Order: sequence, then structure tokens, then C-alpha cells
Amino acid sequence: MKTSIIGYPRIGNLRELKFASEKYFRGEITSAELEQTAKDIRIYDLKLQKNSGLDFIPSNDFSFYDGVLDTAFLLNAVPERYTSLGLCELDTYFAAARGYQGEKGDVKALAMKKWYNTNYHYMVPEIDDNTDIKLAGNKPFELFSEALENGVKTKPVIIGAYTFLKLARYTGTKTAEDFAEKTAAAYSELLVKLGSLGAEWVQIDEPSLVKDMTAEDTELFVSLYEKILADKTGVKVLLQTYFGDVRDCYNELCGLGFDGIGLDFIEGKRSLELVKQNGFPKDKVLFAGVVNGKNIWRNSYEKTVSTVLELKKYTENIVLNTSCSLLHVPCTLANETKLSASFKKHFAYAEEKLGELSELSSILDADKPCETEEYRKNLALHSEKRAGENTAVKEKTASLTEKDLVRLPEFAEREKIQKERFKLPLFPTTTIGSFPQTADVKHNRSAFRKGEITQAEYEQFIEKKIAECVALQEEIGLDVLVHGEFERNDMVEYFGECLDGYIFTEKAWVQSYGTRCVKPPVIWGDISRAKPMTVRWSKYAQSLTDKPMKGMLTGPVTILNWSFPREDISLKESAFQIALAIREEVLDLEANGISIIQVDEAALREKLPLRKSDWREDYLDWAIPAFRYVHSGVKPETQIHTHMCYSEFADIIKDIDNMDADVITFEASRSDLTILDVLKENNFRTEVGPGVYDIHSPRIPSKQEIKEAIGKMTERIPVSKLWVNPDCGLKTRGNEETVPSLKNLVGAAIEARNENS
Ligand code: GLN
Ligand code: ZN
Repeated sequence: MKTSIIGYPRIGNLRELKFASEKYFRGEITSAELEQTAKDIRIYDLKLQKNSGLDFIPSNDFSFYDGVLDTAFLLNAVPERYTSLGLCELDTYFAAARGYQGEKGDVKALAMKKWYNTNYHYMVPEIDDNTDIKLAGNKPFELFSEALENGVKTKPVIIGAYTFLKLARYTGTKTAEDFAEKTAAAYSELLVKLGSLGAEWVQIDEPSLVKDMTAEDTELFVSLYEKILADKTGVKVLLQTYFGDVRDCYNELCGLGFDGIGLDFIEGKRSLELVKQNGFPKDKVLFAGVVNGKNIWRNSYEKTVSTVLELKKYTENIVLNTSCSLLHVPCTLANETKLSASFKKHFAYAEEKLGELSELSSILDADKPCETEEYRKNLALHSEKRAGENTAVKEKTASLTEKDLVRLPEFAEREKIQKERFKLPLFPTTTIGSFPQTADVKHNRSAFRKGEITQAEYEQFIEKKIAECVALQEEIGLDVLVHGEFERNDMVEYFGECLDGYIFTEKAWVQSYGTRCVKPPVIWGDISRAKPMTVRWSKYAQSLTDKPMKGMLTGPVTILNWSFPREDISLKESAFQIALAIREEVLDLEANGISIIQVDEAALREKLPLRKSDWREDYLDWAIPAFRYVHSGVKPETQIHTHMCYSEFADIIKDIDNMDADVITFEASRSDLTILDVLKENNFRTEVGPGVYDIHSPRIPSKQEIKEAIGKMTERIPVSKLWVNPDCGLKTRGNEETVPSLKNLVGAAIEARNENS
């Protein structure tokens, strides 16, 4: 049985591409040097794939920044504000990716968005009425030829026409349909050209097919490919989908002239069912995504073999494939030198997944797959009892009833009790938690990690920072204070390190966007709270002031979403285990005199399933209750806040209200406070602090503009429910802009207060 992958990580085993690109941005190396680093990574990866025995090796999966941006350049869909700068090709590309500020002009970058349900971000192509879509770039051809010169005949990979047109933003009056004709022409030219260079197969990625599709969507998809495939002389086309199943267009897909169809059997809940019910065309090859491209656990050969044997009843032409590009997992276990073998044997990063594909291929070629040695070994590995099992936690989360997930008394009564207790003025002012992580804060942390300072010295420094932060907030006149989060590197990693059940990798970097990579912690066993995590700092901070000091925690859904999750228990079960641990911390903070506790759910929105019909059952039905479990045990007079980073939650507004927090703060300034109308229409019950200014920019907002934002708020929301705060944590900002911004914020709130009372 042949094997294939959809794409390979492009950053290099030790993030060589990141470091070289950043040097190039700083002017420390030339473009030729950057190109060379990129080429070295590509050739290394090609050879690795070839030596692993992989049959379908991708090319053009490489990118200097992002594959969607590459496609925009390939199709001549680059806004003029970048091309007119007069920069060289590479710098024009980086200008669109990162913005440009220099002697040739001043332009912002293209917008960036989450890539489906992953933590990767793509650059949103911008198409205006004058965009002239045509085949304009050479990258797929150059990379195919480069690989060929190095002895590897690859399968070039390209983002598909439908997905490209669906992801683009249309700034004029025209829509996707208006560009269909020209886009199709560009793709057919591309196929012909790749064929003439000697490509046998071309992979066209269409992940947008796994989303909900309307009849018009299907029509657009079909009409594009009828044209694209009309005269593809010679070259075979694989239509690749991932991140779900293609239930809305399976039959159309099978009816078109593709030579191969790639389906995802990991995240595609209905993929197997679709094949069983509708059959699979005899003249096509099924690229079966059976090795998870998103998680780091070893494949279960038992499951995979059974899926493939089932598929074999419907088609003989099967190629073993990953479920999506390996871009979403780290490169290689080889560099995990500190992780013990007892953990490592359960993991497969990108390189190890190549090994799995090759093993699976020989297992499936054997007469009796289940009797092969590799199969048996894998079975044994998966049936090993996992260390880190915590029966108390398991029993506790299993025995939860509806009652445990409901906080009493009800919101309205609590609101009254809390107003009485805190006696806060109208428009109470607060911040989201972190204060600037200045160089001294980072230095203190790294010195402690390296053992250059003692724990006592480390903690003394943090206390000093907290004291300064509290004094600063009092001077500025904020109403509800924070300790500043100086003890945290990251809002998830910090809690991961304090919780039992987590393990940490050394080099398991995954690209998040451009040169930015993240290293998600791994949920290994059952999660439990080993010790208080934040109580010490919050208590200290509260001792310095008479104003309420917010305790700061990260919520269970966000912790889970930004980790590599377990596959042996459900996400729901993991979420409740984490919720239990955070709940214990909440109660501990309360017992230690903290009267307001904020539980951040920054990432709640981002893992909402791609299909609306899956929203409830697969996600919201456990995510919202898990959050409620965190705070359902507190006293009525304790105020629970939450914070979310995206205000794009209009479509789940009732669920947000059902989190039953007392106050929610969120990003709203960039979306021009449009969310307020939705809150109003839905009679949103929770008190709200829509961010009045954008902390992602170094700009200092004036008092006047903050007052205007408050004005917009009061037009739609009862004043008694409004809070005034920035739109996210301040850790990435400097004090230079933070202090004047917060002074303007407090000034604006005071004026609004006087005018409204
Ligand atoms: N409390 C966190 C902070 O202020 C929230 C961060 C976030 O929303 N991403 O940094
Ligand atoms: Zn935020």
C-alpha cells in the first residue's frame, strides 16, 4: 500500500527558518543567505521523507510566511499598496505579511485569521474590483524542479481555487463568483505547466469543503473544477480535504474528473459513513487520512487497520495518508533529549509519523495484518496502563450532577448583593490582568530558571513588582486592581506547570503564524491541583490595598484548547478535570480573602466546531458547563469575572451569558463596538466591560476617544451593567504607553460618571 503526506513542517527541526527570517528582518543577513537556509531545510526534509519510504512527497508546502499568502502572490491578488512600494519580490511579500514602515512608505499588514480549527493563522487575501487574477508566480514550479534536481519527484501542493476564493476578503462590489472564471483559468494553466515539468500528481487542498456549504457554494465549487479539469493534459489531480468530512458535497466531489480524493478519517466524523453509503468511484484513488496530523500521540494501528480494512470493501485503490498537513505538529522527537523514554515512546511528531505510515503500509500488505510484529507491539503500547491515573479525580468528575454546575442564588440576586458589598462607582474601571512584562521581569525569570538566583530572590523581585504595580494603579485611580501577573510566562504554560498531569517538551515547536511558534504543553495523565497556584501572589497584592484585588486564573477550556489533548479520554472529561483543579483554586482564593476572581476564557471561541450542527454536542454542551463548574461553589458575594479575546461571539451569545459569570470583559475596540447591538438585542444579563481601546497597538488613546466609546456603550447597555477597561492584558506593551493610556481611561470614566449620575 502506498503512502502520502499532505505537507511537512517548514520551520526546520530547530526553527532555523524562524531565526534566519528574523535576522533578515533586522538586516543582519542578505536575502541570498535567507534563501539558502530555506533551501537547506527543504532539501533535508525531502531526503528525510524519501528515506522513510514515503511514496507521495509534497513540494510547495514550504512557505516563508504563509501558504495562503503565497497563493495570493501566485494568483496576482496582491493589493497595490504593497506592489507600489517598489520593493524587491521577497520584501513585497514580507510587507504584505508584516507591514512595512521605512523610506518607501508606511503600510499595515494584511489581516490575519485562524486557519479553520487550528492554532495556525493565515493572511487574509484582499481582492478589490480591479484585481486581475492570473498565474503570476513561479514558486510551485521552482520548488518542484528543485526537488527533482535533488532526485525526488514530488507531488506539488497548492491551496485550491474554491478555498482561496472563500477565504479572501472582497473590498469592492464584486464577489467570489465574479472572479471564478479567471481563477479557474489560472489553475488550469498551473496544472498544464506542472505537467509539462514532469509532475505526475498535483495535490489541490480544499479544506473549505468541510464547512457548511450552501447550494451556491456547491455550485461555485463544481463550476470552478469543471473548468479547471477540462484540459489537464497528463497530470493527475488529487483533491485533498481535511479538518472534517465533506457531507455537503460528497457526491459532487465524486462526480468531478479528479484522479484522487483525499478524505479525513480522523476529524471527519462522517467520512467512513459517506463512503459506505455512497460507495467510492472505481476510477479514483482514495487518499485515506488515517494518521492524525494534529496531535502528537502514536497512531493506534488497531483503529487504523480496522478503518482501512473497512474501506477496502468499497475500493481497492487506497493510499495511506495523514489527516491534514503535519504543519500542526512539531518536527522530530530526536531533539527531545530531556523527556524520558517512557513518555517518548507514546509520541510521534512529524518525522515519526513518516515511520508510522511506512509501518502501516507493510502491516496492511501482510496476509494477516493483525498478526504482524509491528501491529502487536503497537497494540501492547496502547494497552499499557498509563501512569498518572488519578482515581479520585476520575470519580469526582464522573459523579457530577446538574446541580454541581449551577451557581446559586441566581444572577439578579447576586448582582444586588455584590453592588451592596463593593459599592463601586458607575463605570468601574479595571484592567484585564497582566501589566507590561518589561525586560527586568523576563530577566528575573530566566535567571531563576538558569539557577543564577535563589527562589527567595526570585520571589522578592516579584513582590517588588507587585507592590509597584499596586501603587501605580492606586495613583492612576483604577477601581478594581490586579497584581500584574509578573510570575507568569504564559497564561496556559504557567498553570500547566503547577498542575499534576501535564508534561513539558523541550523542542516541540509548532508554527502559529509567520515566524512565531508555540510549544503547547502535553496533557499526559489525569489533571489535578498539586498545590495552590496563585493564592500567594493574590493574597500579597490584596494586603497592599483597600481596593478589591482581582484573583487571576485561566479557565479550563482555554487551558485545554492550547494544549496537546489526550486521545484516550474525551475532551469533555479532560475539560472537567481541569475545571475541578481551577475550581479548587477559586475556592482557595475566596477563603484567603479575595473577593473578585477572574477566570479567563481567551480561547473559548476558537475551537467552536467548523459545522454549526456540531456546535452543541461536540463543544458547547460541555465547554460552558465546565466553566460553570469552576465557579458554582463560590459565595453569592464573591464576584466572578471572565475575559474573552474575540468579540466574534454574536452567534453564541446565549451560551456566553450561560457561563453565568457576573462580569465579562472582551475585545471590542477593533470591531468598532458592533457587538454591543447584539448584547442589547439578546438582553445580555452579565455585566460587561467591552474593551475601550486596542492594546495590540502602541498608540495612546485620548480621553476623548475613550469617552466616545463609553458613549456608544451607554446608548445600548444600561449604565448599571457597564465596566470600563482595555481590551486585553497589557503584558506586550511598555509602561510608556500603558500609564498615559490608563490615565485617559480613568479620566474618561470619571467624566462619564459625573454626566450620568
Ligand atoms: N489575564 C490575561 C492577561 O491579562 C489575559 C490574556 C488574554 O486574554 N490573552 O494577560
Ligand atoms: Zn484577551
